[in-house]
Amino acid sequence: MDDDKIEAAAEVLRGAERVVALTGAGISAESGVPTFRGPDGLWKTYRAEELATPEAFQADPVLVWEWYEWRRGRVAAVEPNPGHIVLARWQTTFRSFTLITQNVDGLHAKAGSADVVELHGNIWKLRCTAEGTVTENRAHPLPELPPRCPACGALLRPHIVWFGEPLDRATLGRAFAASEACDVILTIGTSAVVHPAASLPLTAAAAGARVIEVNPEPTPLTLSAHVSLRGPSGVILPAVDERLRALRQA
Ligand SMILES: [Zn+2]
Repeated sequence: MDDDKIEAAAEVLRGAERVVALTGAGISAESGVPTFRGPDGLWKTYRAEELATPEAFQADPVLVWEWYEWRRGRVAAVEPNPGHIVLARWQTTFRSFTLITQNVDGLHAKAGSADVVELHGNIWKLRCTAEGTVTENRAHPLPELPPRCPACGALLRPHIVWFGEPLDRATLGRAFAASEACDVILTIGTSAVVHPAASLPLTAAAAGARVIEVNPEPTPLTLSAHVSLRGPSGVILPAVDERLRALRQA
C-alpha cells in the first residue's frame, strides 16, 4: 500500500463538504458475491444474458425467478467488508454524502448505509408488473414462484434493471445531480467503462470536483484521477479513513 497516496486521498477529503462515492462489482466481489457474469453466472445451462431480460421473464417467469432465488441465496450468505463499513460511516463524516452503486446485492444497506442510489436496482426488492409498486422482501426461499402482488394479483418481478432496459430516470437524475454538486467523487471497485455510471466521475470532474479512484487494476479513469489507489477497497478505505480522522483531529 502506498502511504503517500493514502495521505493524498485523506488530504483531498479533509476539507470536502459534499462527497459522492460510486461503487461497482469489485467491492461486492471482495465480500464473495459472484459477478453472475461469465462462468460465475452459469446456472443450469443458462447465462445471465439469457435470463436477465424482459423477454425471458415474459416467456418463463418461473425459470427467471428460480435463477433469482439461487442468486438471492448466494447473496444472503455474504457479509459487508470493511470497505462497506467505512462508506456507511462516511454518511455522518461529511456535510453531504451520496452513495451510488451499480451493485444489486444490498450489501451497503446491510453495512448501515441509508438512502443508497441503486442504479441497477436491488435483488431484495420486488416490483409489481402491473402497478410498478416496489416492496422489499428478504424471504428466502419465497413462499411461491412466481410471487404475485398482494394488492392486485399481477406478477411480481425482481426490481432490477435487465439487459435492454433503461435505467430509472429519477435514480439517474439523483446520481447526476449529486455528482455535479460534489467537491470529491470516489470511484470504488468499478472499471469505469460502462455508461452511464462511467459518466458520473467525468461529470463531477467537469464541474470542478476532484476524483479519487480505488481499484486493484488501472482503469480508463486512472490517468485523469487526482489520486489513484491500487488495491482492494476493504484495505484502502479503512486506511484512508484512519488517516482522515487523524488529520481532522490534528
Ligand atoms: Zn400490483
